[in-house]
Amino acid sequence: MTAGGVGGFPHQQQPAGSLEDDQSGNIWTRNGYVNSMEEYQEITNNLSIKKSRISAIVRSILSDDQKNIFKKYGYIFGCNEKPTNETCGRIIGKVMCSVDKSHTSYYKHERCNDPLCPVCYPKFTHVIADHVTNRVVGYNTVYKRDPLYHLIFWPDILTGYENITDAMRDANKMLKALGAKMALVLYHPYRIPEEMQEQLNEYKYANKLPENTGFWKMAHDDVLKLGSLAAYIVYGPHFHAIASGYLMDTVEYSKLGIGGYKKVRYMKDDKDVETLVNYIATHACKEHGKQTVRYFGLISPSKLGHGLPKNKKVKVLCQDCNASLEEYYCMVDPDGVPRVMDLKHKEVTRVVTTYVYYKITGKKRLPKPKSRVWT
Ligand SMILES: [Zn+2]
Ligand SMILES: [Zn+2]
Repeated sequence: MTAGGVGGFPHQQQPAGSLEDDQSGNIWTRNGYVNSMEEYQEITNNLSIKKSRISAIVRSILSDDQKNIFKKYGYIFGCNEKPTNETCGRIIGKVMCSVDKSHTSYYKHERCNDPLCPVCYPKFTHVIADHVTNRVVGYNTVYKRDPLYHLIFWPDILTGYENITDAMRDANKMLKALGAKMALVLYHPYRIPEEMQEQLNEYKYANKLPENTGFWKMAHDDVLKLGSLAAYIVYGPHFHAIASGYLMDTVEYSKLGIGGYKKVRYMKDDKDVETLVNYIATHACKEHGKQTVRYFGLISPSKLGHGLPKNKKVKVLCQDCNASLEEYYCMVDPDGVPRVMDLKHKEVTRVVTTYVYYKITGKKRLPKPKSRVWT
């Protein structure tokens, strides 16, 4: 469920030179002009039901070989041997359901805030998933709603890429050839080989882990005690995309000699997009100072713009019963058992940032309006 795109209005062209009407607070969407505050409220309401974002403890992975492989083919989120500082991972709080303490709970811990830290990386993948979902929701409010698919595509020549910029340049070429109308893309330098996937599956069933536990989550946590994340992976450059458009037939595409692709599945809704992006970001290439996710076609920054960010505090709810959550101070005893202390907050909140999106049409750039930031 997304804001906009609900009514049966015909798809209209935006009037030239009037992206947003500043005086009235109205904004152009595919349904014509709507009030930007109402639009914002609706997007915010949709986002406010999002579940807790407090990650659980992840054990640090130690290996010297690891550095060598990642240095050569690129770093991925959470691939560092250990956190950047000593206190990262120390438990400082526990978040529990206000109604039933047996419901899913989370520990809060100190962070070093390095995207490559094995403890801190989930925070970054959640932020990425949030950004991407917001943009997809925004895209759907402005452009014609088309079915979105999860795609995997790969180059024919596996000599590798020097950096993420080179990788994404190749991805752009492949998406154009495929006929994608729009796409958001993440680059994966590595894959988990099938033999390893089988071992991880065995571990998952033997230990009764939740059905949806991903291979990469288990590899990051080093569940098989192989000593390093590098022990689970092989070099195998490929891309994941969420894309729309009439795509070329897979057999015909492979004849082009560029590479291959596979349609994995149809994306059900925004929540589906968020969950998928959060997972594929956990093993995406992370290059310092570079964007992890790239947007192509109609969802790219040259076709889809947005206004100023709007922040709103929203309640984080229990994932089992939707009741409010409470945060407690927590300390770890010398024997390693976390002990819950006084109540810290009666309510757990998070800040949700939303944008109002608009279509950018034509080749001419519009003049920069005063007192407005366009990003
Ligand atoms: Zn850390
Ligand atoms: Zn609950």
